[in-house]
Parts: sequence; C-alpha cells; structure tokens
Amino acid sequence: MSDVLIILGPASQPVKKTDLAAFGFASAAVERTGGAFDALFLGPASPAAARELSRLGARKLFVFDHPDLASYTAEAYAAAVAGFLAGRSYRLIAAATTSSTREYFPRLAARLSAPMASDVLALDRLDAAKAAFTRAVFVGNLLASVELEGPLALATCRASEFDAPPEQSAESPIEALRADKRFAHARKRSVSLSQARSERPELIEAEVVVTAGRGTRGPNEGIPLAARLADVLGGALGATRAVVDAGWLPNEYQVGQTGKIVAPKLYIALGVSGAIQHLAGMRNSKHIVAINKDPDAPIFEVADVGLVADLFQVVPEFIEALQTLEEAR
Ligand SMILES: Cc1cc2nc3c(=O)[nH]c(=O)nc-3n(C[C@H](O)[C@H](O)[C@H](O)COP(=O)(O)OP(=O)(O)OC[C@H]3O[C@@H](n4cnc5c(N)ncnc54)[C@H](O)[C@@H]3O)c2cc1C
Repeated sequence: MSDVLIILGPASQPVKKTDLAAFGFASAAVERTGGAFDALFLGPASPAAARELSRLGARKLFVFDHPDLASYTAEAYAAAVAGFLAGRSYRLIAAATTSSTREYFPRLAARLSAPMASDVLALDRLDAAKAAFTRAVFVGNLLASVELEGPLALATCRASEFDAPPEQSAESPIEALRADKRFAHARKRSVSLSQARSERPELIEAEVVVTAGRGTRGPNEGIPLAARLADVLGGALGATRAVVDAGWLPNEYQVGQTGKIVAPKLYIALGVSGAIQHLAGMRNSKHIVAINKDPDAPIFEVADVGLVADLFQVVPEFIEALQTLEEAR
C-alpha cells in the first residue's frame, strides 16, 4: 500500500481544472497501488469548493490556512509542506503543473532529499522500490520514461492529461490545520499581485479556446474577429507567439511551449500555421478546428476539422450562423 499526498493552493470557487486534475492523478495512482490519497490545501478554502472537492475520493482534506500562505511565495509553500510532513508518511507527493509548482516543488524535493519528476503525463509504476513516470520531452516529440528510486518521490502532473475522478457519495473529512510557526522567508515577501481582468473564462480553464495567429493580421483586423467568435462561443481568446511578439495581444494569451498548455473541448485556430512549439500547447484538445488559407499548413495534421479558406471571409459567416442558431433557440 502506498499513500499519496496532493498539494493544492487556496481552494476557490469555481474549482480549478488543475485542482481536479491533481485529484484525477492521485485517484489513478492509488487505484494502481491500493493505497489512499490525502489532499493538502495551502491557504484558505472556500466552503463550497471544499464541499465539491470532498466528494472526489480523498481519505482526508487538510486545509492549512496561515498568514504566511495568504499570498504565494515558494519559500513559505515549501516550508509549510515540509512542516506538515513531520510525523506523516507518504510514498508520493504530487501536484498539478502550474507556474507555482514549477517553482516550489523542486525546492520541496531538495528539502526532503527526494527525487522529482516534473510535468508527467502518466504514472507507470509505484511500488516500494521505484516510481516510474512518462514525460513528454523535445516539445512533445518524444516520450521519456523516468524512474525515481527511494522511499519517497515527488511529481507534478500535466493538467490536460487528467480528468476529475468520479464523484463519490461519501464525503472526505476536512481537517483545519494550525501552526504558530512562521513559514515566510525573512528576506522575501509578496508585495502585491496584479491580475488581468477579463469577462472571458481563463485560458487554461476554458472549454472553448479561439486562438488568433499571425494570419489575423493585427489588432485592427482579425484579432477583434477572433475575439468576437470566442465571445459568441463563451470561450477564451488565445494567441500564438507571433501575435504576442508583435504586441497584438498580451503575453498571458500565448498558447504553446513557452506559453500556456490548454486542452479544451473545442480549440479553433485562426490563421495559425501550427509550428511545433504551438502544437505543444494545444494538441491534446478534444476537438481541433483549423482555418488557414494554406492547404499545407502543419496545423491541419492535428486538426479534426480543417477549412482551407480566408478567415476574413469565413469567420464572419460562422459568427452569423452561430448567432442565428442562438436566436432560433
Ligand atoms: C524556443 C521557441 C519557443 C516558442 N514558443 C512558442 C509558443 O509557446 N507558442 C507559439 O505559438 N509559438 C512559439 N514559438 C514560435 C513558433 O515557432 C512559430 O513562429 C509561431 O507559432 C508562428 O505563429 P503563427 O502560426 O501565428 O504565424 P505563422 O507561422 O506566420 O502562420 C500564419 C498562418 O496564417 C495563415 N494565414 C495568413 N493569412 C490568412 C488568412 N487570411 N486566412 C487564413 N489563414 C491565413 C498562413 O497560411 C500561415 O499558415 C516558439 C519558437 C521558439 C524558437
């Protein structure tokens, strides 16, 4: 029997896809090994979110709300988890890959003198001697098998690969943790966090993503068209790096190897060539639709539906058809 601990940030409503993915990863892991999994929330947990997550099969949910965890710093998160682990024993400690876990999980691994695998796509083996994972390398062109030896392993998992486990009728008990100890680093503190506000869903969380490529020709031409299509579908707007580098959309819109990794139900690529670095961020989308006037564009190799057409002609027609459908409802 091997027990697993998943670590999450503050539990907010609506529940994040990355949190559901961490539960999915842990649930699949213990199904293989016969153990149980616990979940540790660092920071506050909204009661509604905690209730929703308590039906996903964890043995216990721990909520560690502490002033030093109110805003994220890698030092405080790593120290708090290390403090939590004192006197507890797990075989695997995991979290979804996020910008925070990319930073603090390696620190935690160093603190615990344990090996770590990052951004894993699958857990292949977990026994007393070894933990083995599959990871994507070289922009997803190769799959690597990684084996970690020793009694404790750490891993971050790619959220697009794991779905929420089925809901259970029994609720996991929730335990609030307290500590008088300080976790913050004496010489580092988070001063403020500014977040871009948008009416649209977050790129990583959205069920529909419409991405604008260089073929949209700029902020006064095809970008508003892509944004309109995203709005009609209730989706998020994404961008290729070419669009971000040209300053047509801000950095946080970028999808790809050096941007965000998304796996929505529907991904629509407008004027996107399908460079390998872009595909690395969206190829796991459930349905991919590509509109490009070049029939040889590589995006068509991953598209479920491809339209060789001028986006300036077909996207307005598409939007009109969707609006007519909506009105007829
Ligand atoms: C280290 C590294 C990391 C990178 N990371 C990323 C990343 O994270 N994300 C990313 O996206 N890129 C990334 N890139 C850049 C990537 O290699 C490509 O340059 C980029 O994705 C191209 O963007 P694009 O498809 O918008 O532009 P282009 O490649 O210029 O393609 C534009 C497409 O629009 C089509 N088109 C033109 N006009 C129309 C029209 N009227 N109607 C329909 N179609 C039209 C064209 O046929 C063409 O296929 C990275 C590159 C490197 C080297």
